Amino acid sequence: MTASFLPPKRILMGPGPSDVPQRVLDAMARPTIGHLDPAFVDLMEQIKAMLRMAFRTENALTFPVSAPGSAGMEMCFVNLVEPGDKVIVCRNGVFGGRMLENVKRTGGVPVVVDDAWGAAVDPQKVRDAFKSNPDAKVLAFVHAETSTGAQSDAAALAKIAQEAGALTILDCVTSLGGTPVLLDQWRIDAAYSGSQKCLSCTPGLSPVSFSERAIEKIKARKTPVQSWFLDLNLVLGYWQSAGKRTYHHTAPINPMYGLHESLVMLEEEGLENSWARHRAMHEKLKAGLEGLGLRYVVEESARLPQLNSIYVPEGVDEAAIRSRLLSEFNLEIGAGLGDMAGKIWRIGLMGYSAKQANIDLCLQALSACLEKSAAGA
Ligand SMILES: *Cc1c(COP(=O)(O)O)cnc(C)c1O
Repeated sequence: MTASFLPPKRILMGPGPSDVPQRVLDAMARPTIGHLDPAFVDLMEQIKAMLRMAFRTENALTFPVSAPGSAGMEMCFVNLVEPGDKVIVCRNGVFGGRMLENVKRTGGVPVVVDDAWGAAVDPQKVRDAFKSNPDAKVLAFVHAETSTGAQSDAAALAKIAQEAGALTILDCVTSLGGTPVLLDQWRIDAAYSGSQKCLSCTPGLSPVSFSERAIEKIKARKTPVQSWFLDLNLVLGYWQSAGKRTYHHTAPINPMYGLHESLVMLEEEGLENSWARHRAMHEKLKAGLEGLGLRYVVEESARLPQLNSIYVPEGVDEAAIRSRLLSEFNLEIGAGLGDMAGKIWRIGLMGYSAKQANIDLCLQALSACLEKSAAGA
């Protein structure tokens, strides 16, 4: 007979998921109720209100998609992009590339603005792209590129789109809760995030938010949204005003308890305090990493506090070190993706993982492994 699964206890300092506090795990273990139960409807309303707090928005259409961040991404594109729509897509890492793939699959016409991996999106290139493509309807970019650790200037990029009369789609999966995400101030039209990064919930839910302008565009579509599950016109009936809720799909009840608890914890700490904590922990980790002679990939002005990407020292077997960190220290850090595979490590300081004890463990463990590696052990 197969035994029950007992996961090892790990410290998660990779690109997500981050450590999940016991409070959130406890919340998820509470009894399952029906998804149309009035008590669950109340919970959904509270989650929506707390997500508005986290996104700094008044958008009525703010809720968690019942699927991971990639589904939130897809929801934004399938609803806002109609076949033939021109979309300017910024690509400076893996997730910008996925946005491009979404544009292609919805039948949109992509205009790609490329920047080097590890660099922020260059606003001048975006301005030029709109100049050459005044008919572009949407600008899409990643705020916090988790594949490289670079943060782009969302306020500046969104402003360019507004001046050109285009809508903006923002990936804030890794930024939400960790660095300022100001949807209303920046006038973002569609944004998606994830539960498992700086919110420190378990993976599998994707907070999203849509402006009135975005909803108008969706309502004016000439073609039906290609995805039934992600069609906002249908999902609206499930997430809209509490009294009129109708069945669309069965929400993942217990993970919603978890998201609720993680948002309660964010409220208790205060959003701005959470941003400040991520920054302070980053400064400490940075001092330690530089003390070990490790170099950052991203230049200081564009560095994400919650995702520290550093070069693997010359001659070091990066995969061997990561497997040692996991087996000897129960510590997970991330490897490089795509062009950066084998060349960098990505150390996450997301949500509950952004704390002194994790930094101490990480520096001590890395130092031990690098020493052994240098000694040829
Ligand atoms: C993690 C991540 C995603 C995808 O989220 P999943 O929950 O893994 O589907 C999208 N964009 C960025 C920037 C991410 O870091």
